[in-house]
Amino acid sequence: MKPFDYAAPVSLSEAVALMGAHPGARPLAGGTDLLVQLRSGRKQTGFVLDVKRIPELNQLHYDAVTGLTVGAALACYQIGASDAVHEHYPSLAEVVSWIGGTPIQGRASLGGNLCNAAPSADTIPLLIALGATLRIEGATGERRLPVEEFCLGPGQNALLPGEVLVSIHIPAPRPGQGTAYLRLIPRNEMDIAVAGAGASLTVVDGVITEARLALSSVAPRPLFVEEAGEFLRGQRPTEENFVSAAALAQAAARPISDMRGSAEYRKHLSAVMARRALSAAYRRCTHAA
Ligand SMILES: Cc1cc2nc3c(=O)[nH]c(=O)nc-3n(C[C@H](O)[C@H](O)[C@H](O)COP(=O)(O)OP(=O)(O)OC[C@H]3O[C@@H](n4cnc5c(N)ncnc54)[C@H](O)[C@@H]3O)c2cc1C
Repeated sequence: MKPFDYAAPVSLSEAVALMGAHPGARPLAGGTDLLVQLRSGRKQTGFVLDVKRIPELNQLHYDAVTGLTVGAALACYQIGASDAVHEHYPSLAEVVSWIGGTPIQGRASLGGNLCNAAPSADTIPLLIALGATLRIEGATGERRLPVEEFCLGPGQNALLPGEVLVSIHIPAPRPGQGTAYLRLIPRNEMDIAVAGAGASLTVVDGVITEARLALSSVAPRPLFVEEAGEFLRGQRPTEENFVSAAALAQAAARPISDMRGSAEYRKHLSAVMARRALSAAYRRCTHAA
């Protein structure tokens, strides 16, 4: 690994100033992606900015009206240890327990998963399904972005030079809402998804009032299938309708072939995972029969 300078600021303003003063600086949260990439030479930097000591990036706050705020650098195990997350966002508690294994979860963060912008990132389709928004801070101040607009392509995100991701905000669960993320991996753990799907359904009086679906590993970036949600809104939560929505997901998928699976297999899986995620989300709907 090439040598780099290192700083660990304890305030957001200090972090933003350091990012501005060191063009090309790379934030470090858990380092489970960054350190691997620096060591292999896939990424370079002369300045690493450790963001783990900044309070705003390490918060976890739940409010029944406004929802959940998770600091971008908070480790997966800390998210999974939260009673509020288990009670109100069971699918989030589940997905953070799937990132790598126990040692990885001790370091890896939601912010790192987002900023690394891997098409296979497991938390992102779920965050899209949950309707999360991101708080981003830079020299010109703060801005907010819907999570589905954050990843632009493999390893590319929407952060401007000098900006840091501060936190992820997830709306409070609605009455009748259920959510799920499912993935297919070749091994039981510590592997990259061949395909995955995150879904959220809200069902009131037997009718779907809100639906969001997103896929992993089947496009250059986590894929928000907006048209599937549009189709489902106003429909009944039947397997037949889930199959039709899954067909829209399959049509939207633009997978590649690699060592884990061919493009054709991933195209097939797009529909399978989408349908299963919608069914799983429906089973979690709070008023589901
Ligand atoms: C053995 C192993 C197993 C893994 N298993 C999985 C898995 O099952 N599923 C999965 O999705 N991923 C997996 N990963 C990938 C990785 O663990 C995750 O992507 C993790 O969430 C990254 O978080 P981190 O805090 O370690 O990020 P870091 O490595 O610290 O950072 C990742 C990238 O984001 C940038 N960054 C970090 N924080 C910020 C911020 N606040 N603002 C701006 N930029 C920032 C960094 O500069 C870097 O480019 C695995 C990795 C390993 C090594």
